[in-house]
Amino acid sequence: MFFKDIIGQEKVKKRLIRSVQEERISHAQLFSGPEGNGKLALALAYAQYISCRNRSEEDSCGTCPPCRKYAKLAHPDLHFVFPIFKNKPSQNAYCDDFLASWREMLLQSPYISLNQWGNYIEAGNAQLTIYAHESDSIIRKLSVKPFEAEFKVMIIWLPEKMNIACANKLLKMIEEPPVKTLFLMVTENEADIIATIRSRTQVIKVPRIRDTDLQDHLTGTGLYEPETVAEMVHHAHGNYLKALEFSEPTEDKQYFFDTFQNIMRLGYTAGGNSAKIPELMDLAEELAALGREKQKDFFKYAMQITREFFVMNFQKPALVYLNREEKGFGSRFSPFINERNVMLFSQLFEEGHLHISRNGNPKIIFTDTLLSVIKIIRK
Ligand SMILES: [Zn+2]
Repeated sequence: MFFKDIIGQEKVKKRLIRSVQEERISHAQLFSGPEGNGKLALALAYAQYISCRNRSEEDSCGTCPPCRKYAKLAHPDLHFVFPIFKNKPSQNAYCDDFLASWREMLLQSPYISLNQWGNYIEAGNAQLTIYAHESDSIIRKLSVKPFEAEFKVMIIWLPEKMNIACANKLLKMIEEPPVKTLFLMVTENEADIIATIRSRTQVIKVPRIRDTDLQDHLTGTGLYEPETVAEMVHHAHGNYLKALEFSEPTEDKQYFFDTFQNIMRLGYTAGGNSAKIPELMDLAEELAALGREKQKDFFKYAMQITREFFVMNFQKPALVYLNREEKGFGSRFSPFINERNVMLFSQLFEEGHLHISRNGNPKIIFTDTLLSVIKIIRK
């Protein structure tokens, strides 16, 4: 990964490069910032820059032996820790079991979300975690001397997903680091990392991508018309993944959108024709079979999109954050969301989210929610 391939973030790049040139590389660093801003890409480019034998003032050379290994993310002194799941409940799972998929996905693009990663490794409804026993593997990897480079680098993606026992062992390693070891942690939720780790790391704040940088990048790809670029940037809020989503929604998002549309259509028709209720109940059952995290995401999505459709009624496009397909549906559907029912919908989905978070019975929750839609939508 090269610095030059990262969208914007010039300030952070300069700071990282300076730390190498001035030989002030802190042994535990925390790249912190929102999704889709390129933190992981920055950590990778930084690690490569540190390992490069022929670096320039601005970037790695790309041709020295370490750079060539970095190009495949297969340098012997580069290690990764990331959330995974257990294929078989009886067996321990390690990051190394997923390393091939991890490299493959990152080589396609280092801009990834936890959901995308979960889909990539077909985690289904499983929660992604960094398990307690992963610490054994970390200790083993870091207890040997660097093979080739000056430093061993361990990139920990989303340490907030780390089991507490593992986090405590990691803390010990950060407090008494094995020689020549760098921990580069990449977080989207700094507050969820145990305070003792946070306080021992140097925090690198990585902000959202600036609109102008995102615009330049998207224009530079030559893939999009100028109007599309403008809409993508508006939709993105500095999140590159959201910019892409404008034209190509992720699998989850597409599913949520399709399901939301079906619920609203069926909910409306069921109000005049009760023969449609069983179809609506089939949908409730389908949603009840999803994993709890996805169910929560669905409710969040429903809350957000209802609000967007309501705002669409005011004919102020700058206030609306929807992708192309959502806008298409919204242009016909938004009149059904009005002053009389917008708050009711919002409460309905919020309560659904709350009840799922509190481990309520998903079948009951979704059945109740979808039946309520029938009443609310005709208000
Ligand atoms: Zn190099």
